[in-house]
Amino acid sequence: KESRAMKFQRQHMDPDGPSNNSNYCNQMMRRRNMTEGRCKPVNTFVHEPLVDVQAICLQGNITCKNGQPNCHKSSSSMKITDCRVTSGSKYPNCDYRTSQKKRHIIVACEGNPYVPVHFDASV
Ligand code: ADP
Repeated sequence: KESRAMKFQRQHMDPDGPSNNSNYCNQMMRRRNMTEGRCKPVNTFVHEPLVDVQAICLQGNITCKNGQPNCHKSSSSMKITDCRVTSGSKYPNCDYRTSQKKRHIIVACEGNPYVPVHFDASV
């Protein structure tokens, strides 16, 4: 079974990306299995080394959107791509808007080792 840590990597990690094109989200959301059963409405990919994203779990501790205390904000800004389903998108033809940004990211961490399991926000 896929662990929560592995699921985070599948849904959110693309260290070598992005391929510089407006189809990035359409391709990646499908390739990473987020268009099965439904189109996952919003998802962020992070283009930084995995070790740098894992290190966020040791950085500033903050409250998550759901009120849990296990969120952490990156001390540096990171390269990300936000994917958001378009209003005209109709499952199973999931259509996404691709936006590249540099932001501080907030992840929730769990376990031993204490690693990212959820992407909470970018600021
Ligand atoms: P994501 O939220 O990263 O898009 P999922 O919703 O698929 O991805 O998975 C998030 C996982 O993280 C769930 O297993 C959830 O229980 C876990 N989790 C741990 N801490 C939190 C938190 N503070 N907020 C939301 N989810 C959390």
